[in-house]
Amino acid sequence: MSDLRDLYQEVVVDHSRRPRNHRPIEGADLTAEGHNPLCGDEVTLFVRFDGDRLEDVSFTGSGCAISTASASLMTETLRGRTREEADRIFEEFREMVTSDPTEEPRGESLGKLTVLAGVREYASRVKCATLVWHTLHKALQDPAAGPASTE
Ligand code: ZN
Repeated sequence: MSDLRDLYQEVVVDHSRRPRNHRPIEGADLTAEGHNPLCGDEVTLFVRFDGDRLEDVSFTGSGCAISTASASLMTETLRGRTREEADRIFEEFREMVTSDPTEEPRGESLGKLTVLAGVREYASRVKCATLVWHTLHKALQDPAAGPASTE
């Protein structure tokens, strides 16, 4: 188990130091802001659609290692997915990070995202990990809504 923990740690550190898709999208179809006042994480999310598909997903902003890694992993995971798939992955991710820490993390569609299961042990970190997801979810549901907040 400790090897697995190290691996998880490595992926999170890698994505927080070299976040993927950390750039704005010119002429994005959807732009959404999210804020986690508890930690000070700020994120701006960009999506370009091709029909129903999230053709490109990116983010800017600054936050702690967990929020940055989570945003980076999310953009990687969701590029090329449909809205419906994105919604399903969001639900699975939310369930995973709020599940019992003593249980094996579940989530069939999550793939690499399961590295973030470690946050289950730290209640305040769950908000860091879910910020970018709530931001996306809210924007997909209601693009005209204001910024998302974890509070
Ligand atoms: Zn944070």
